[in-house]
Amino acid sequence: MDCLFCAIIAGDVPSRQIYADDHAVAFLDIAPWHRGHSLVIPRRHVVDVLEEGPALIDIAPAIQTTSRLLMDRLGADGLNMVMNNRAVAGQEVFHLHVHLVPRYSEHPGMRALFRPDPAAGSDLDALHAHLTGAV
Ligand code: AMP
Ligand code: ZN
Repeated sequence: MDCLFCAIIAGDVPSRQIYADDHAVAFLDIAPWHRGHSLVIPRRHVVDVLEEGPALIDIAPAIQTTSRLLMDRLGADGLNMVMNNRAVAGQEVFHLHVHLVPRYSEHPGMRALFRPDPAAGSDLDALHAHLTGAV
């Protein structure tokens, strides 16, 4: 099976990981909409939330812990959780993932969620270091 996010879990494709537990991994999105935009994915390959069987419950603690980490470390004012299920809904990577998008008062509201802040992806390595406590 050729799955980008399984390759990230396996360490075959690099990622800027910010959180991990037994069930889930969280890492910075490579093309962020807003500063700190991250993805939470299950370690187990699940295509989307519409598949049979529980999937969200496994990653719920990671979603909550990572959301708090982003809020606290980035001084965000709010946070969106977005999930695209199937191609028609905008899903491009077919391994379940939840987008965590920290939000800032300079760019408020739902419409601005999908109108990315051009500065959001400017220094992902520094952002990663900041989130993981390396600086
Ligand atoms: P979706 O459209 O919901 O399937 O979102 C897929 C997300 O994965 C997009 O926001 C991409 O920017 C992100 N993405 C794709 N490749 C990578 C990667 N190698 N590392 C981190 N994020 C990625
Ligand atoms: Zn996968």
